[in-house]
Amino acid sequence: MGKRSTAVVTVQLLPLRRLPAGVKRLCAELRREAGRCWSELVAAHVCSRSGAWLGERDLNALSSGGRFRLHSQSIQALVQKLLANVDTARTSREREQATGGKPVTRYPYHEQPYQTVTWKGQAVRVEGSRLVLPNGRKQRDLVLPLPARFHAADIKQVELLWRADHYQLALTVAELPTPDEQPKPQAAGQVAGVDLGEINLAAVCTEDGRALVVSGRLLRHVKQLRNKRHAAYTERQARCKKGSRRWKRLQRQKSRASAKLYRQQRNILHQASRKVAAFAEAHGVGELAIGDVRAISDGVSKGRHANQKIAQWPHGQFRAYVTQKAERRGMRATLHDEAYSSRTCSACGFRHPSAPRGRVFRCSGCGTTLHRDANGAANICSKRVAGCFAAVQVKNTMHRQAAAVRAPTRAPVAGPKHPDPPPGDGMAPEAHAL
Ligand SMILES: [Zn+2]
Repeated sequence: MGKRSTAVVTVQLLPLRRLPAGVKRLCAELRREAGRCWSELVAAHVCSRSGAWLGERDLNALSSGGRFRLHSQSIQALVQKLLANVDTARTSREREQATGGKPVTRYPYHEQPYQTVTWKGQAVRVEGSRLVLPNGRKQRDLVLPLPARFHAADIKQVELLWRADHYQLALTVAELPTPDEQPKPQAAGQVAGVDLGEINLAAVCTEDGRALVVSGRLLRHVKQLRNKRHAAYTERQARCKKGSRRWKRLQRQKSRASAKLYRQQRNILHQASRKVAAFAEAHGVGELAIGDVRAISDGVSKGRHANQKIAQWPHGQFRAYVTQKAERRGMRATLHDEAYSSRTCSACGFRHPSAPRGRVFRCSGCGTTLHRDANGAANICSKRVAGCFAAVQVKNTMHRQAAAVRAPTRAPVAGPKHPDPPPGDGMAPEAHAL
């Protein structure tokens, strides 16, 4: 948290399809074990809030001693994630109080049946063409096939995720050389800055000031629908006996619906990334400088609803698509620190004390009004080209929808009575375990 190394790392997603049944079962067990550990940590922390709040050492002590069948660093990662969530909730509450309101952001309290399992650098081993991920004492290693492009890679971290109907690894890989050693762009063509976001999937701004904003509205709609359907199925399941035939049928329907919505999401992201790459190509771009937003999903807590949004904001996937499509068109994609890019005016360089609210950036320094994300993209571009903000000015901004696909139809089941977010990564429960 808060540490920024100079080495550029990328997160690469690796879908795990057609895993042998035993390996799949182990994946489910590990994620369930991480959920159990998370839930106990959260419960203990909730209890401690009436007195002295538990810190990192307390939580580590609480979860050590082989109580969980996970690697000690995987447990530590959960402790750190919880504390980061607590910290961010505290900051949000302080801000809410400072602006005269009652604090509405809750401290973490949700138990999770499943959680992401994280392996840190030293625990990760590559043996030949296999990735070996160790777990707690007397627990089997998780051994997975590793594509050739990662065999010599410097893997910093591995996360085991569940994506609607399959497991997925998120590999954090160090990239060489680091940007500090890199010369200025020597690829032919100009640089374009890319700002990834939740409301708008991407904003691009070229050195000569042409900007494109790709809306994420359809994606948001698809995700809201998924959450609603998911909650409706869960509610229907609550009315029957767990494990019964009817319950299982609902479970299958639930994962089918999730898988479908996941495919829709993928389709939208592909189309949106194609628009970004095509726009860049049309304007003679040689390098896409992408703002690094990974810090956002690392333990930032902005309240339950915002958190659900962020957990479901597939920026890693989207960035991978943009990179692939840019490279196929002969451009390269690089990753850059985006700190202050959204709160600094790209016209005059004035840094505002906080990020703008709403979609419009209004500079109180020079009075410029710009699309918020186009402003961010111009700043990312400027930082890359000139090493400072305000060297690239937005001249015109084009707006596009992410995709032209038909919006999905209404949910077939009754709406939920309580709008709690679904468990897990916010995607779907581990349905195959049945
Ligand atoms: Zn200004």
